[in-house]
Amino acid sequence: MPDKKIILSEKELPTAWYNIQADLPVPCPPLLHPVTRKPATPDDVAPLFPMPIILQEVSRERWVEIPEPIREIYRIWRPTPLVRAYRLEKALDTPAHIYFKNESVSPAGSHKPNTAVVQAYYNRQEGIRSLSTETGAGQWGCALAMACSFFDMECKVYMVKVSYQQKPYRRSLIQTWGAQVTASPSNETHAGRQILAKDPDSPGTLGIAISEASEVAATSGGRTKYSLGSVLNHVLMHQTVIGEESLKQMEIAGEYPDVVIGCVGGGSNFGGIAFPFIRENWLNGKKARIIAVEPMSCPSLTKGIYAYDFGDTTGTGPLAKMHTLGHTFVPPGIHAGGLRYHGMAPLVSLLYDHGDIEALALHQSSVFEAAVQFARAEGIVPAPETAHAVRIAMDEAVKAREEGRKKVILFNFSGHGHFDMSAYDRYLGGELEDFEYPSEKVQEALSHLPEV
Ligand SMILES: *Cc1c(COP(=O)(O)O)cnc(C)c1O
Repeated sequence: MPDKKIILSEKELPTAWYNIQADLPVPCPPLLHPVTRKPATPDDVAPLFPMPIILQEVSRERWVEIPEPIREIYRIWRPTPLVRAYRLEKALDTPAHIYFKNESVSPAGSHKPNTAVVQAYYNRQEGIRSLSTETGAGQWGCALAMACSFFDMECKVYMVKVSYQQKPYRRSLIQTWGAQVTASPSNETHAGRQILAKDPDSPGTLGIAISEASEVAATSGGRTKYSLGSVLNHVLMHQTVIGEESLKQMEIAGEYPDVVIGCVGGGSNFGGIAFPFIRENWLNGKKARIIAVEPMSCPSLTKGIYAYDFGDTTGTGPLAKMHTLGHTFVPPGIHAGGLRYHGMAPLVSLLYDHGDIEALALHQSSVFEAAVQFARAEGIVPAPETAHAVRIAMDEAVKAREEGRKKVILFNFSGHGHFDMSAYDRYLGGELEDFEYPSEKVQEALSHLPEV
C-alpha cells in the first residue's frame, strides 16, 4: 500500500508565496476609500498596515520571497503532512482516493498562523510593538497572539461575543500567549458603544469586531497597527504555502487531484490550497475542479451579490468589491464561527464571478454528521469550519462510487475542533438546530449597500 502520509523535509519548505494577481484574467478591483470612494492609496491605509504589507496587497509579482526569519518560524509546524484518508475511503466504500492537507498541526490548531507570523514580522520590522485584531471562532486570535509572542509584541483581540461565551478555552489560549482579549461588541470603542446602544444583547459579528479592532489602530497615533486574518490579498497569498506544498506532495504520491475543496469564511484557507492549482489550470493545461464550501446561514458566494461593500459593520473601513450579503447582515449563530462573515475575499469573489471556481452551501447538521464520520474513520476531530470541506469531499467520494470511477479528491483540513466540543455535544445530544437561509434579513442588509 502506498504511504499514508506524504511528508516533505524542512529543506522542501517553499521559499516564495504565489501571488495569483500576476496571472488573473482581469485585474482585481482595488479597495476604495470609505469617504471619497476613490481607490485607496497606500497613505490611506498606512494608519492600519505597515508598508511591506500594503505593497504586497497590490503587488503583481508572481513570486514573493518568504524572509528567512519567517521560514524559521514556519518550520515549527511546516511542511504539514498530506494524508491519504484510506480508512475514510474504506468506510465510504469508494474507488475515490481522498487526500487532505493537514493544517491542524500548527500550535494554534489551524492554518491561521501561516499569515499571523508574517504580519507580526513586517510590523515589528517597522518598529511597531502592538497589534489589534478581531477573532470569530477564536482561531485567528490564537494565531496572532502566538505570533506576537514570538516577536515580543503586544496584542489586543476583540472576540465575537457568542464565541467568547461558547469557547472559553480559546480565550484562555489567547491569554496564555500573552494577548489581551475582550468580548465584542464592547464598551471600549466608539463602534462597540454604537452597536450596544441599538442592541444591548448583540451576539457580535466579525464585521463588528473588525470595526472595533481597526478603530483602536486608527486612533492610536501610530502606536498600534491592525491585522486581518483573512479576506485581503496579502493574507491569501501568505496561505499559498499550503497549495505549493500540496502540489509537491501530490507529485510524490504520483497523482493529481480531479477536485480541490476548501471551506470559505473570508477565503484564506481556500485561497491557500486552491490558488496554486488554479494557476496549473490556467498555465499548465490542468483541469482540476475547484470547490468553495460555505454555510447556508451565511452564503456570501452562492446567494450574495458581487458589489462594493464595507468590510466592517459600521462602515468606517475601506470598501472592497466582493460577494456580500450586506455589511449590516448578522448571520445566525452557527457553530462554525469562522465562516460567519458577510463578505468574501475580493480574489475569491473575482474567480467565482469569472467561473474559475464553484461554490456550495451546507446546513450545519449535515456538516457535523460528516465531521463525526471523519473522526471515527481517521481519528482527527475537524473544526466545524473544516467539516464543511469534509462533507463535500465525502459527497464527491460517494458520487465516484455511484459513477463507478476513480477520482482523486484533495481537501484542505484547515483546523481541528478540540475547542469546539460544546458544538459536538449539542450535535451528539440531538440539539443542533439548522437555520433556514435568512433571505429577508439578507434582502434588508443588501438594501444598505453603499453607493459607489
Ligand atoms: C478561520 C477559519 C476558517 C475560515 O477562514 P478562511 O479565511 O475562510 O480560511 C476555516 N477553518 C478554520 C479552522 C479556521 O480557523
